[in-house]
Amino acid sequence: MSTSEQLFERAQRHIPGGVNSPVRAFKAVGGSPVFVERSEGAWFYDCEGKRYIDYVLSWGPMLMGHNHPHVREAVIRQSEKGLSFGAPTELEIQLADRICEVMPGMDMVRMVNSGTEATMSAIRLARGYTGRDTIIKFEGCYHGHSDSLLVKAGSGALTMGVPSSPGVPAALADYTMTLTYNDSDELRRAFAEHGDKIACVIVEPVVGNMNCIPPQPGFLETMREMCSAHGAVLIMDEVMTGFRFGLHGAQGHYGIEADLTCLGKVIGGGMPVGAFGGKREIMEQIAPLGPVYQAGTLSGNPIAMAAGLATLEVISAPGFYEPVFARTTALCTGLEKAAAAAGVPFTTNHSGTMFGGFFTDAPSVTNYSQVMACDTAAFNRFFHHMLAQGVYLAPASYEAGFMSSAHTDADIEATIAAAAHAFTQR
Ligand code: PMP
Repeated sequence: MSTSEQLFERAQRHIPGGVNSPVRAFKAVGGSPVFVERSEGAWFYDCEGKRYIDYVLSWGPMLMGHNHPHVREAVIRQSEKGLSFGAPTELEIQLADRICEVMPGMDMVRMVNSGTEATMSAIRLARGYTGRDTIIKFEGCYHGHSDSLLVKAGSGALTMGVPSSPGVPAALADYTMTLTYNDSDELRRAFAEHGDKIACVIVEPVVGNMNCIPPQPGFLETMREMCSAHGAVLIMDEVMTGFRFGLHGAQGHYGIEADLTCLGKVIGGGMPVGAFGGKREIMEQIAPLGPVYQAGTLSGNPIAMAAGLATLEVISAPGFYEPVFARTTALCTGLEKAAAAAGVPFTTNHSGTMFGGFFTDAPSVTNYSQVMACDTAAFNRFFHHMLAQGVYLAPASYEAGFMSSAHTDADIEATIAAAAHAFTQR
């Protein structure tokens, strides 16, 4: 038995499923999860010292690779002054100022502790602001695990086969309208029929929770147009995409501005952080300025703010993003070539520093039903062959992959070589 297998057995005694977040359990791909000991740059090392090139990157945050010295030093420096105060600090102002400076349409921002809190609070705010209850989301998009949003969700909810979770009151789910991602006509029809009831539309501008699905031309534009025409709040959930497309989010990349934006992952540099913000008129409805309640004991935690600020400093350097974009493209091109050489039906999507591979003979994959039609068994086999060769992909076919600035050309070449072998294994 490997050390990871032993730890997994031990973990299951007191931790449900042995993990603190479901997808980590390898339930979709089978086998035992890798227990991590330490990380550095593009790699992490398991508890037996085996090295993996990591394309999960803590599910997105580690845009500069693991354990970046600038972030680590900022965290150590700040921790010497105390871990949490529950009173305001200048660090919070600095991070809020920087985020509002670079993110489109963000006049104000409130810090929270996770992406789930960010989207949950943004939804409450949109409902409070509009006085309406119905929300629109898209099938396969995951916005965290709050009740209203855990309806036909992506990520672990897809992997575990519980797209609409028990425990979500039917009455609440009734207020969540779920539409098809990339279907502008359906969105127009929903607004034509229910426009005066819709508080908000929430969307992952590039979906990273049903593998990687970029928006088709016109889809985000239609969403913007419909929300403006019907007085609904457009919420872009950039928890995953934020700072993965340059400093201005997927909104900057695709040229669409939301009314509210949710952030997380990268802005915490690996610490537990989320944020929601947007138009001043809406944000002023939040307590203590307005009546919509939201709070947090550890929100704006100084260590987390220091990690976030240090991260934003590094990624703001001119020329930071271009090589990361280029390597994302190079990896996808290389994977497609390797699959073609092995005669395996396979295609990729990528946008910014996110990517995904699909075992399918369809020429493109643009929505939930196409993702569901892919060959999951082929992915699961591929996953284990890659893992054995020291390449760590997300342990489910419904997750996007992430690139970091720490991944080198040599890492990409090694990954493609491993894939060339894995594609030949049946
Ligand atoms: N929104 C999106 C787009 C996400 O990808 C995630 C998490 N993967 C969340 C919200 C929830 O964030 P958290 O896990 O930090 O609660």
